[in-house]
Amino acid sequence: MNESKLILVLGDQLSLNQPALKQAEPGRDIIVLAEVAEEATYVRHNRHKIALLFAAMRHFRVELETLGYDVYYTAIDQGVASLEEAVRKVLVQTAATEVVVCEPGEYRLVHQMRSAWSSSLGVPVTVLEDDRFLASHDDFELWARGKKQLRMEFFYRKMRERYQLLMDDGQPAGGKWNYDADNRSGWRNQREIPARPDVPVDDITSAVIAEVNQRFPNNPGDLSQFRLAVTRSEAERQFDWFVTYALADFGTYQDALVEESPWVFHGLISMYINCGLLDPLAVCQRVEIAWREGDCSLSAAEGFIRQVLGWREYIRGIYWLLMPEYKTRNTLSATRPLPDFFWDANTDMRCLSRAIEQSLDHGYAHHIQRLMVIGNFALLAGLDVMEVCDWYLGVYVDAYEWVELPNTLGMALYGDNAVIASKPYAASGKYIQKQGNHCQQCRYKPSKTTGPDACPYNSLYWRFIDRHLDNFGSNPRMGLIAANWRKRDPEERAVIVQWADKMIEEWA
Ligand SMILES: Cc1cc2nc3c(=O)[nH]c(=O)nc-3n(C[C@H](O)[C@H](O)[C@H](O)COP(=O)(O)OP(=O)(O)OC[C@H]3O[C@@H](n4cnc5c(N)ncnc54)[C@H](O)[C@@H]3O)c2cc1C
Ligand code: SF4
Repeated sequence: MNESKLILVLGDQLSLNQPALKQAEPGRDIIVLAEVAEEATYVRHNRHKIALLFAAMRHFRVELETLGYDVYYTAIDQGVASLEEAVRKVLVQTAATEVVVCEPGEYRLVHQMRSAWSSSLGVPVTVLEDDRFLASHDDFELWARGKKQLRMEFFYRKMRERYQLLMDDGQPAGGKWNYDADNRSGWRNQREIPARPDVPVDDITSAVIAEVNQRFPNNPGDLSQFRLAVTRSEAERQFDWFVTYALADFGTYQDALVEESPWVFHGLISMYINCGLLDPLAVCQRVEIAWREGDCSLSAAEGFIRQVLGWREYIRGIYWLLMPEYKTRNTLSATRPLPDFFWDANTDMRCLSRAIEQSLDHGYAHHIQRLMVIGNFALLAGLDVMEVCDWYLGVYVDAYEWVELPNTLGMALYGDNAVIASKPYAASGKYIQKQGNHCQQCRYKPSKTTGPDACPYNSLYWRFIDRHLDNFGSNPRMGLIAANWRKRDPEERAVIVQWADKMIEEWA
């Protein structure tokens, strides 16, 4: 008779297609799902994220049991501290003789499992590579090998060819690989933004919401506004809604900053892809079909597919290629503590306050808010890279270290020795003004650089250039800006830098 395996399923592995579950046999193997304090509390996670994962895990348990699996479920009120302890408890209750788990999305946990679990649990532990991603570790290493620069665009082209997405007779559809230039429109209330459909909250989810509110009273997140799908079929319905009502405008307004809507025309699907409720290849294929059937432009479809097939896989590849050393990087020696307004959104900078407020309340901000509003501010103000990374990891519902860290440390903070970004994503208030309508509601003026009503992003931007002239002077993409700054009157430069310093001191 085959011996029984204990299959551990983590909260971001809720898919029957993940490799550990593909090995599971109903009636023989034991499935373990565990809500544990260690994973829920090692950063101050948004309550939306905890509620999403616990509710999705509890629904997944029902699905597995319906399929005939024997599931051992540990709820948070059972007080189990760690995943290892949850596994140990089940091992002593059952006849399982080995543990199988799909690789977690965090180096710390994979390292613990691979290096210590087998000897401490007394049974073999197999950690399987997560094949729900579209590029394996080997694929990415092979692509990266020998390259001086690891630019996403070239990786993305390979992935398009490999998965035959938006390809016609071996060539990119429409003759170009990238339609990014069509996707940068600012927001001037050009369109009505469709209201997002509600997601029904059933008894399982209601109980989770009540428990999370009670157990995590000091975490961010307003659960009276919980609107996340917690099963695969609901997540698919949300994605269908996006394809039908928002995809056509997704590309054009991808970079827009909109006072009235946190979601604009974005997908709101990262949280579902990342926890296993949606499949990344299936969403790309569905979007290609929408384009081929005439439901959206090629630039919208390409813009979307580039994010999922390109950026998402590339970011993950960088994480596993360069960890654990990657996490120790801090290229610009940024060490200032986070201002308090990161936890209450209480700042007069309208763009920043809106982005932080919705991040805290909903656990969501779209890419340009994360990169060019919050990230840009943190970069310009020289905020401590690890504090900023922990903030992003805690605040967003879709945040796991494999995706949060390279995006924050590398893309937003330019802290990884220019692996991800060839130049810093640094911008003054003029960029934010161009991309949206926040400035109209702001007490600051994007046209001014110093003085009480000057937009803080402006002087911070020049202070940033000034401080890093040595780093950027030789960067061909920053050289012109650095040269222009050098040409300005030294007294004028000093006034701008002092004004920025003064503001930074006030936030400390
Ligand atoms: C500083 C910073 C931190 C970020 N942290 C996270 C994070 O913790 N988790 C996360 O999933 N994404 C993160 N991103 C990437 C991106 O902002 C989110 O994936 C996106 O905002 C999610 O919203 P959406 O589903 O509406 O995306 P859409 O705008 O609709 O895009 C479609 C999909 O593309 C994928 N995608 C797009 N850009 C990226 C990217 N740079 N990296 C990975 N996937 C991408 C996502 O799966 C997303 O759902 C971060 C970006 C920045 C700049
Ligand atoms: S004026 Fe400056 S701080 Fe105010 S919304 Fe515009 S960019 Fe943001």
